[in-house]
Formats: sequence, structure tokens, C-alpha cells
Amino acid sequence: MSAAPIDNVLAQLHKVRQRQLGQWSACCPAHDDKGPSLSVRETAEGAVLLHCFAGCSVADILSALGMEMSGLFPPRQLSGREPKRTPRLLTAGQAVELLDRETQLLAVVAANMLRGVEINQNDLDRIAKAAGRINWLRSQSTGGTYA
Ligand SMILES: [Zn+2]
Repeated sequence: MSAAPIDNVLAQLHKVRQRQLGQWSACCPAHDDKGPSLSVRETAEGAVLLHCFAGCSVADILSALGMEMSGLFPPRQLSGREPKRTPRLLTAGQAVELLDRETQLLAVVAANMLRGVEINQNDLDRIAKAAGRINWLRSQSTGGTYA
């Protein structure tokens, strides 16, 4: 597949509706979804963020779509420039990618909260995980590793 990740994902979803630029809602393929529970976002880098407000994991959604996690990211991000120095655990590109993914997730949840969408325990757990990862990534990058 040579199309952008967002096109591949949207092509396989039902009841896709664009909410705003780079943001769609659709029926979640991982559970018996009556209304559109799935939030789909495209990041500035062309990566796709999926979030089911009924609580399905991204892994569940991907397996329902028959896709791999790598299918959510444009190929160029996987073969990016080599970092100047060897980072401890992640490449700079991976750190940015992960940070971007987590902040996008928080942005989606925040937007839904502002619209009055009920946040369930699964969302809260995911938010806590995202916040933890962001803090960890920040601590990793403060040592000048990615200078
Ligand atoms: Zn779902």
C-alpha cells in the first residue's frame, strides 16, 4: 500500500465523518459499535492516532482492521536520519514520535472532555500512561542526549 496511512485506515472504517481538519469519527471495528465511538486523527507528520471511547485498545482496533502498528506511521518516519549521538534507549526520532503520539492522545481526550463526552476508566488509565511516558521522555531528553 502506497497511500498515506490515514487513507488506508479511513478506507477500512464505516460511517466515517470528518469532524475538523485532520480529525474524523467512525464506527469502531473492534466492538459492536452503534454510534461512532472511534476518534481518528492525523498528526502533522502523517501518523494516525486511533482512540475508541468504548475502551478498545489500539491493538484490538488494528487487529480488527488487519493492520500492523507500523501501518499507522508513514514509511519515512521509520527510516529517518540517524541521530548524531547514540541515545540511551530511544532514537531521537522514536522519542519525538512517541511524544507526539502521547500528546495527540491527550489532545483528543481533552477535546472530547470539553465537548462533554464521558471519560471512562480505560481513558483515565490511558491518560495516566501517556502522562507517565511524556514525563519519562522529558527526563530522557534533559541530559542533552538529543542535542
Ligand atoms: Zn471499540
